[in-house]
Amino acid sequence: MQILDGKIVSKAVKLKTKDKTELFKAAGNRAPHLAAILVGSDGASETYVASKVKNCEEVGFKSSLIRFDENINEAELIDAIKKLNTDDSVDGILVQLPLPKQIDEEKIISLINPEKDVDGFHPVSIGKMVQGLPTFIPATPYGILLMLEHYKIETSGKHAVVIGRSNIVGRPISILLSRNTYPGNCTVTVCHSRTTNLKEICLQADIIVAALGIPEFLKADMVKENAVVIDVGITRVKDDTKKSGFALKGDVDFANVAPKCSFITPVPGGVGLMTIAALLMNTFTACENKFK
Ligand code: NAD
Repeated sequence: MQILDGKIVSKAVKLKTKDKTELFKAAGNRAPHLAAILVGSDGASETYVASKVKNCEEVGFKSSLIRFDENINEAELIDAIKKLNTDDSVDGILVQLPLPKQIDEEKIISLINPEKDVDGFHPVSIGKMVQGLPTFIPATPYGILLMLEHYKIETSGKHAVVIGRSNIVGRPISILLSRNTYPGNCTVTVCHSRTTNLKEICLQADIIVAALGIPEFLKADMVKENAVVIDVGITRVKDDTKKSGFALKGDVDFANVAPKCSFITPVPGGVGLMTIAALLMNTFTACENKFK
């Protein structure tokens, strides 16, 4: 069994992005600039955004964090996005999800200029991705592809089972794994909350992507020998032994599943780190596209 180490792969991706940024700046261009919008003060969202901002600095990008109160109305948020859309100094716009209930997430996402949609959630980006056209691939699925590529994991002809059909993880990774390219060329089965024979389907999988958000859901008796297991789940679980008061749990029962796998991602230290690395790559591309 080999660990798919998000620390190693994300470091390599970030180093490459940093080198490209230095060359880009040396050629007389300004630094790529990511603007992140954070509404409210949810603990997990605060942590994710802080990490994204810190990572921008590490690779030589500029970043701006625009904060709004939990009670902001939709019109104010729309106004902020419109300003960022037309601000030439901003290359990438990220709206940290989830948004408060009074705000229509889909409406907000669809207002982002697709050329700055570094999260890859805009319908235009998704449509292009489905057609295999150049676009911003959503950061988490993109991070998974980068990881498969780094470890040269064979995907062609394999049966990939994706658990979860969300717009940000499950659905896009299922489409990407079925593309006629590497990583891809898998036969993909998408499972979700209404799937009745999940265990039988998982037992047929050469590759399992678990993205449902239920800690330790995927058990050893659902995984065949030598499967590749990608754990996307991140759930905060109360843990008094930790200084923070919580531990991060994946969707896979790692201790019992790992011995059966050929490759497996840990949580933390797996897909989460890759998501940020992929976001940085998208931001660099957004900036580069502008100066082409
Ligand atoms: P979501 O809640 O939008 O979707 C969950 C999906 O799981 C749904 O499609 C649902 O049908 C499916 N599901 C729920 N219960 C199920 C069951 N019993 N059997 C089969 N399928 C079931 O979740 P999401 O936004 O895709 O996130 C999933 C997990 O991934 C969460 O833990 C989230 O925190 C994590 N996540 C991690 C990263 C990262 O960077 N590592 C990024 C995004 C999300």
